[in-house]
Amino acid sequence: PRPNSAAARDVRSQLHPYTNPVLHEQSGPMVVTRGDGVWVEDERGDRYIEGLAGLWCTALGFSAEERLARVAYEQMRRLSFYHPFGHKAHVPGIDLAEALLAMAPVPMSKVFFCNSGSEANDTAIKFIRFYNNALGRPEKKKIISRLKAYHGVTVASASLTGLPNNHRDFDLPLAGILHTTCPHHYHGAAEGESPDAFASRCAEELEALIQAEGPDTIAAFFAEPVMGAGGVIVPPPTYFEKIQAVLKRHDILFVADEVICGFGRTGNPWGCQTFDLKPDMIACAKQLSSGYLPLAALMMTESVYEVIRDNAGRIGILGHGYTYGGHPVACAVALETLAIYRERDLFGHAAAVGPRLQARLRDLADHPLVGEVRGVGLIGGVELSRDKASRQPFDPAQGVGAAMTRHLHAHGVITRVIGDTVAFSPPLIITEEEIDTMVDRVARALDDTLAWCRAEALV
Ligand code: PLP
Repeated sequence: PRPNSAAARDVRSQLHPYTNPVLHEQSGPMVVTRGDGVWVEDERGDRYIEGLAGLWCTALGFSAEERLARVAYEQMRRLSFYHPFGHKAHVPGIDLAEALLAMAPVPMSKVFFCNSGSEANDTAIKFIRFYNNALGRPEKKKIISRLKAYHGVTVASASLTGLPNNHRDFDLPLAGILHTTCPHHYHGAAEGESPDAFASRCAEELEALIQAEGPDTIAAFFAEPVMGAGGVIVPPPTYFEKIQAVLKRHDILFVADEVICGFGRTGNPWGCQTFDLKPDMIACAKQLSSGYLPLAALMMTESVYEVIRDNAGRIGILGHGYTYGGHPVACAVALETLAIYRERDLFGHAAAVGPRLQARLRDLADHPLVGEVRGVGLIGGVELSRDKASRQPFDPAQGVGAAMTRHLHAHGVITRVIGDTVAFSPPLIITEEEIDTMVDRVARALDDTLAWCRAEALV
């Protein structure tokens, strides 16, 4: 980076999440300075279409909403901070809790606010322990999530996450957090195994894990409706019906992690509706506030709440809560965000333009570098493959993902390349024309990456 540029100052001052620090010192960051709809601009004035809505969160795009700025300003002037500890409450929190309960995909009874998706999942783990302790079965506390799941990065939520980078050298996962089969048919299915047969096998493998551990020791199962940061993995259509039957049989709570899928991403207000899920708890965040301010929520059914209430009542307190969980300014902004979604029928818009994204991405499936295209609604993944026939991934050391990222940037697209998968989760406001612009550019980046792979003799 140029001396004294923002990039150079960044290299001197920040340690970055999910970044290789050694490469970062050499190359410096892209310093993003402004946003406009689905576009962002860097400090050199180059414009990019933001194909991942930041980190799957800015449903309304980047800094286009005067209304949200005004609501935040007015709430700061009226009451800059309050909290729900110790029998206190504030009106934005009450209003937002009511709004969430009114729109929940299955009847939910109470909302507990947090700041982040990680905290919401951590809270779920703690409440599940509290619940089973209250029911006099403290041994029922193991939790099952899935390989390639992403549920966050705190010590417990990183344990739920099923990705090696989140465990290796952090001494994780915590004991009692287990991982079952990832429902990715493309890689997981045996030769000739249908999606339905593969779904049955996933459920059988879950059953086998439960039996091996002892059904009385398993408290809960966590799942994203569509796995996002693990590489945009859409389960087979019959997967969740089979999984939910297993959970029911063993009295295992189901926590739906709607942190990415919630608020219109999969073509319905909730991922639970797209896949007919009946969870006992729902974690949500990200598009809850369109990323304008940090906010997350954990919802629970009446039957979970009742047990927690009675236990906390007996002990005298529910010993859990975050200073900034349900911050009044964040709640006011989230409430206004939900109002904008409703007024503009943005979930309907996402459902209407989603098929365009899916169709345009599927057109890329014929590209020599593309192994699989998958997705639903406004979330999609394009997996690069070294060899289409054998579905072989590239060796990560060959840097194909980084090359694809470079070529996407050169063509004015920002998104995340996760392993070999280029992930798409654009702002919900994206138009069909903008989808076309984005995918046209992605196609050119694929051509450039293929040329690079050939020059490096990787394909
Ligand atoms: N759950 C899912 C499905 C996520 O995608 C994420 C973040 O990407 C999280 C949880 C963690 O959320 P946060 O980064 O707000 O802690």
